[in-house]
Amino acid sequence: MSNSTNYRISGTRLWQGLMDIAEIGATPKGGVKRITLTDVDLKGRNQFRSWCEEIGLTVRVDSMGNMFARRPGRDDTRPPVMFGSHLDSQPTGGKFDGALGVMAGLEVMRTLHDLNIITEAPVELVNWTDEEGTRFGRAMMGSGVWAGMFPEEAVKALTDEDGITVGEALAGIGYEGTIPAAPFAADSFFELHIEQGPILEQAEKQIGIVTGAQAQIWYEAIVTGQDSHAGTTPPIARKDALLTAARIIELVNNIMRETGQSSIADPGRGTVGRLYVLPNSPNVIPGEVRFTVDFRHPIDARIVEISERFPQEADAIALANNCKLTLKPVFRVKEQPFDETCVGLVRSATEKLGFSALEMVSGAGHDAVHTATVMPTAMIFIPCKDGLSHNEAESIEPEQAEAGCQVLFDAVLARANRFSL
Ligand SMILES: [Zn+2]
Repeated sequence: MSNSTNYRISGTRLWQGLMDIAEIGATPKGGVKRITLTDVDLKGRNQFRSWCEEIGLTVRVDSMGNMFARRPGRDDTRPPVMFGSHLDSQPTGGKFDGALGVMAGLEVMRTLHDLNIITEAPVELVNWTDEEGTRFGRAMMGSGVWAGMFPEEAVKALTDEDGITVGEALAGIGYEGTIPAAPFAADSFFELHIEQGPILEQAEKQIGIVTGAQAQIWYEAIVTGQDSHAGTTPPIARKDALLTAARIIELVNNIMRETGQSSIADPGRGTVGRLYVLPNSPNVIPGEVRFTVDFRHPIDARIVEISERFPQEADAIALANNCKLTLKPVFRVKEQPFDETCVGLVRSATEKLGFSALEMVSGAGHDAVHTATVMPTAMIFIPCKDGLSHNEAESIEPEQAEAGCQVLFDAVLARANRFSL
């Protein structure tokens, strides 16, 4: 059976759908604020549900609020081919992060409905709960519980700034479903997403064929020195925690650049994104600095090497500056390769549709990274303007969305219509 079809999704309807969902939580600067499990999220969920029901899909909600909209197959006993993304956003988010994958999934369903196509296996469109992690501090939360990466009870006890738990927030909007948030027999998962980086745009490619996600290690670091008077403490007597932290930040940057600084396609990332300085007073030498470190690389062996080397070198810097370093690894994932067959379907659909493409590794985390641990998974990227995301100015062109959605449609249809073994 061919992997590419003559069936065409509607780019106009897809774009209209994206604009419609973007009105829910629209910000004055043209972005979206649809934070997970709020009243705005509820509005988005209810709208999504009614669009699904309009075309005859059956919507189920699990105990984490993950929504599954099902279209039966000719053989409805077969496990479903799933696709989707997330409708929640960052506080100053864009219109397309997550929403693209959900609305393109809806467009796939609308096209199947219009053309009266019955797929062999059932198909299911998913809206995962809380991908962004912005409210409860746990990114890819719904898919993570579903895939068994996070224990549900512990996740439900996480609180937001106002002390509201995930469990209370779910119940509060009426989206704590009755079916368990655990993997059911599913065939595969496909996720279309904006790249959220500059590689496709700069390479002038239409489609990113995502072969997997990067290995990561994150640390929490505390540098302890000594608070002392800025005017009276001579250089030799200083235990400056901020200066020490700055030198460790430089080390993070140097380690990142060892494997990539000649082209935008070079791998390896190292970031310090959060810094607390104590006592944070203009005339006191800082006695304590707390910061985070985030290393990523497509090859796990490189992260293993960094995890052996970085603590030693950072420690040496602290010692040389009369300070003490406490380094705690707080998060570690191995590289997550996607499924060769599913990636192959994305590749052949892209080729047959005549789109230019680049094979790439996802720099960001996505729900697909969790689903990949329990079922065959693939991702499709499209470029976004200036690689900008998690920003209200996030932007794509209608034809870019259409191209990504058509690849999704063809890959899903090929997968759902393949002969059962
Ligand atoms: Zn996203």
